[in-house]
Amino acid sequence: MPKPPPNPSFSDLAFINRQLRQRLDSLTREAHHNEEVLKRFHDRELTLLATESLPQLLDCLIDGMKSSFDLPDIQLILHDPDHELRHLLLHSGIEPDSLSDIRFVDQITTFSPRHARYKAPWLGPYQAQEHAPLFPTASNLRSIAILPMIRRSQLVGFIGLGSHDPERFTRRHASDFLNRLATISAICLENTANREHLVIAGLTDALTGLHNRRYLERRLEEEVTRALRYQYPLSCLFIDADHFKQVNDRHGHGAGDSVLRELALRVKECLRLSDIATRFGGEEFTLLLPQTGAAEACNLAERIRDRIQAKPIALHGGETVDVTISIGVAALRPDDDGDSQAIGQRLLDAADRALYTAKSAGRNRVQLASPASMPEKHREITEIND
Ligand code: GH3
Ligand code: MG
Ligand code: MG
Repeated sequence: MPKPPPNPSFSDLAFINRQLRQRLDSLTREAHHNEEVLKRFHDRELTLLATESLPQLLDCLIDGMKSSFDLPDIQLILHDPDHELRHLLLHSGIEPDSLSDIRFVDQITTFSPRHARYKAPWLGPYQAQEHAPLFPTASNLRSIAILPMIRRSQLVGFIGLGSHDPERFTRRHASDFLNRLATISAICLENTANREHLVIAGLTDALTGLHNRRYLERRLEEEVTRALRYQYPLSCLFIDADHFKQVNDRHGHGAGDSVLRELALRVKECLRLSDIATRFGGEEFTLLLPQTGAAEACNLAERIRDRIQAKPIALHGGETVDVTISIGVAALRPDDDGDSQAIGQRLLDAADRALYTAKSAGRNRVQLASPASMPEKHREITEIND
């Protein structure tokens, strides 16, 4: 602040007055700027808090922040020792490796020992040798911010912000807002994962750990829509244990339960990550097989049938039980653009009817849906030559 001389002249006072005005203008501009920054952070925090699923949260953290903070590069490194986050994503039909800006690491301290010691945001120039592991796809980054995400005193990840502007993140900048954003992100991550666990609990069959029928209903429509949009085949297997009532009658209900668990396990061992296995009810299972045509689905059905009949199932107490299954197979091809829910239901019905035929024909067999029972416009698929 300029001090006036002992006997200031008019021009001295005018000069001081001008300087004071300039200072006031600059402080007003800074206050406006801070208000804008605060508002942007505040909006982002509210969006993060409103996310309802893990994929939505991750999208909000990466793409949402890129656009609201106008940054070319945002990276997320998440501590995921039990692969919990990755499993939750797979459950939502997202392949974790396909998320190019996010890395899930088993041990964050070994992934980046130096940065794992950070307790507060670090802002400064980008140095390839040190920072490349955090920004693997970086190009022309000049300054960065590394925000540790800390929850209950534990480091749960990092958010890396990268800018082409060398002055965007410097040690002179205050980092309180960034620190707060990282903390809120960590809380949101924990909340979302917990919420997804609850949802899964309501969509999972307690006995076998497979998905339940409610889950199938939800996914069937999504998978049909996706198959039609991206023009790939989709098949459905309907599996039913043969004469299962006799297993219960001869060995007891508890033994029946063990057999159902073992059946689910053997079925699962034959599947790909993207296949969707559900316990439809009782001793019935359905499989949805994205990107799988009728011929491939029949081959898989044969493998599953064989895996189950090949080895008797061991029960507690040394007894064993021979179990066989029958399977109905139906497939659609993406040459229809009708109502996905109705097409999905017809696909399921077609597989169910094929199963009934397999039962009538003597059980322990695979039956492909007949042309008449295939969803309309998909009948040509029944020739097993795709
Ligand atoms: P089919 O070859 O015609 O399918 O004969 P099935 O005996 O398998 O068919 P049915 O529908 O007559 O009997 C199914 C049996 O599955 C009857 C039911 O008690 C049993 N079951 C259904 N759910 C469970 C379960 O959770 N645990 C056990 N142990 N048994 C179950
Ligand atoms: Mg049945
Ligand atoms: Mg049965």
